[in-house]
Amino acid sequence: MDPTVDPAVKSFVPVAPESHFPLQNLPYGMFSPTPRDEPRAGTRIGDFVLDLAVIQNAGLLDAAGLPEGIFSHYVLNPFMELDPVQRRAVRLLIHGLLRAEEPTLRDDTALRGRALLPADSVTMQFPVGIPDYTDFYASREHATNVGIMFRGKDNALMPNWLHLPVGYHGRASSVILSGQDVTRPSGQTLPPEQETPVFGPCKLMDFELEMGFLIGTPNRLGEPVSADNAEDNIFGLVLVNDWSARDIQKWEYQPLGPFTAKNFATSISPWIVTLEALAPFRCASPEQDPAPLPYLQESNRGTFDINLDVHIQAEDDDEALRVSESNFKYLYWTMAQQLAHHTVSGCNLSTGDLLASGTISGPEKTNYGSMLEISWRGTEPVTLPGGGERKFLHDGDTVTMSAWCQGDGYRIGFGEVTGKILPAIGTQRAGNR
Ligand code: CA
Repeated sequence: MDPTVDPAVKSFVPVAPESHFPLQNLPYGMFSPTPRDEPRAGTRIGDFVLDLAVIQNAGLLDAAGLPEGIFSHYVLNPFMELDPVQRRAVRLLIHGLLRAEEPTLRDDTALRGRALLPADSVTMQFPVGIPDYTDFYASREHATNVGIMFRGKDNALMPNWLHLPVGYHGRASSVILSGQDVTRPSGQTLPPEQETPVFGPCKLMDFELEMGFLIGTPNRLGEPVSADNAEDNIFGLVLVNDWSARDIQKWEYQPLGPFTAKNFATSISPWIVTLEALAPFRCASPEQDPAPLPYLQESNRGTFDINLDVHIQAEDDDEALRVSESNFKYLYWTMAQQLAHHTVSGCNLSTGDLLASGTISGPEKTNYGSMLEISWRGTEPVTLPGGGERKFLHDGDTVTMSAWCQGDGYRIGFGEVTGKILPAIGTQRAGNR
């Protein structure tokens, strides 16, 4: 067993059972201790952030042979592209430093004061330089639901869907950090029963509950990655809200796929959870019938049991409504298959590339991962605690997603990805700026 995931080992930093960040997690992120400080890398333990730049400068990571200042760049990329063996050595050293019986950090008051900072006192920063963003459509339930709504029950899945992980090249420049507001996009739509389009604010604003993985080790142009080796190229996972403008999407998407309906914002959670931390939560993934072509077959097919939920809170409401509870394990196409398919053409992936899953819906209505499905295209609205009805998102609504693996008395979590909808440009109310 990897000692860093042993649930019996405790930290001297107190961690509540429902915390997403026990000693067994140790995710990576970027933060600034105060808004005027340069960003540096950190990990999270309970309600504290451990400053990895301070720890490295104190010589406590020397055994891993890291390049100097690797945690003091503006992004995690220089660390992410290291050999996975070296990264695992770093994880083991950090784990050792935080163990309950290890005095080095625990008993050095001055060092502890500089290295361990209350999480609510720091400013989280965007963790990674993302050269390219790809978005898949890997949930069978989601693809089926959308297919039924737009093409009818008999043609719900397109003929290619069960043979390859459908995806498209997204937009990296508008991937934003959790907490940043999202302005409602404007664009072209074709109103019902009309023949010519109109321009205006999106009327069917939606979220998409997704998870994404970030590339650590890149592959060379012309060298595909096999499904069996794909996880060696993955640095870790984040929670993703891929905001979507459904009315704009419907008019523009044929024949080349979504464009402006998807390129205005994609929010990610600030902490990147590694595959090492997720390892105890490996589980079976859905049986595939028909069997995929050999390049998509996996000798150890599997995925991770990661609980997901989504809450919506209206601007004037005191509480949020949980509108979805899903699970990463429902995805029909695994991360390894997505990566193998992406590179089978010889396409090279770079360190920091984001590959998102597509909306993660499950078999039950409570598992649907978008308002499009939850309200069944607007025919079944939900009622918020304050009485407001929602078919799609209103201005002022805050969408918060959460993800965690449930262990025996502990959790390995991703924290949250949250964002609030602002009125479209040109439609802001007086006093709203
Ligand atoms: Ca998406």
